[in-house]
Amino acid sequence: MPLINADLHIHSKYSMATSNRMDIPTLAVESAKKGIQLVGTGDCLHRKWLDEIKTLPEVADGIYGLNQTKFVLTVEIEDTDRVHHLIILPSISKAEELREAVEPASVNIDSDGRPNVDMSGAQIAQLAKDAGALIGPAHAFTPWTGMYAYHECLEGCYEDMTQYISFVELGLSADTDLADRIKELHRLTFLTNSDAHSPWPNKLAREFNRFKMEDITFDQLEKAILRESGLGPQMNVGLFPQEGKYHRSACIRCYQQYTLRECIMKKWRCKCGGRIKKGVVERIEELSDTSSHPEHRPPYLHLIPLSEIIMLALGTKSIHTKQVKHNWETLVKQYGSEVTVLLDTELDSIEGVDPKVKKAVRMFREGKVKVTPGGGGQYGKIEIIKDDETLPVEAESTGEFQRSLLEF
Ligand SMILES: [Zn+2]
Ligand SMILES: [Zn+2]
Repeated sequence: MPLINADLHIHSKYSMATSNRMDIPTLAVESAKKGIQLVGTGDCLHRKWLDEIKTLPEVADGIYGLNQTKFVLTVEIEDTDRVHHLIILPSISKAEELREAVEPASVNIDSDGRPNVDMSGAQIAQLAKDAGALIGPAHAFTPWTGMYAYHECLEGCYEDMTQYISFVELGLSADTDLADRIKELHRLTFLTNSDAHSPWPNKLAREFNRFKMEDITFDQLEKAILRESGLGPQMNVGLFPQEGKYHRSACIRCYQQYTLRECIMKKWRCKCGGRIKKGVVERIEELSDTSSHPEHRPPYLHLIPLSEIIMLALGTKSIHTKQVKHNWETLVKQYGSEVTVLLDTELDSIEGVDPKVKKAVRMFREGKVKVTPGGGGQYGKIEIIKDDETLPVEAESTGEFQRSLLEF
């Protein structure tokens, strides 16, 4: 059965703090370079964005296409408790219906692609059901806007609509091993999406899902998320969760990190006087009631965006330098996409790039990376370990995940 790489949560240029290059032609080109076949439109309740989506031909049931990239309608909504929900819709007419239903409860539906809606999670889930859409909490564990930041369990948020929830989006600071420590999530499919605000190759599809699907239609995607008819997620791919900016509990002013025990003893106040923000690790520790994985759970592959591997290899400070761009473009042109370069290509065949880049890709595949965890709003840091350096225990434990995608 064909395998489809999908990034189902991004934001358009009509959301707050997004790049004005988050338009459909750019997304189509950049997704193809990354190796992503199916992209969520994001922001599909926004009038102008929806009008732009409408200019695309419907290439299959509920799927809109530009060249080789396919789009499915998605939107993120913030509810009355500040919880974010991801919704995946079956058609433009259903998006119009949902828009009409939430419009009276939203003051910013036409100014922000991610609207605030003055409704509970349960009310929004009911509307999603009415529209034949899929819904689940977005980046469920993050402080500020994650479902578990405000609720102890799914039912606290979705009440009598809980059974309709079909997935949970893990967010950048969590992975499968962390999320499966909460028993109520075992029946749900895990989604790993980028939540990208710009089309740069280290943002778009920095996390994605690989689904077994016959072809790309809404119906097939729905079956894959519900794991019906032999379809389903085959792999979750994402950043090392330590890289996320809310991975550990830390002070939001000086970023000093604390264990859960220390946080409680210090009453969530840092020694500098700043507030300690609870990290994803500590939140999951509080909620944890199991340590197993359900049978259906696919493997989680930890990934570093290729542009960042190149940046680390060349020792530049940003991915936006000529050197990094040149090496990235050369590799992507040679192999067709970033995913192919990172996971599926025989390394010896790589040509036309700096030897340091080739070596760094190999080190990444062998799991020779060191991750310093983030917290309190500060991203974690990643380093490629030098050949002669001994591996820290923490990095060694990640090694087993760095297998070729072809193995699955
Ligand atoms: Zn969000
Ligand atoms: Zn502090």
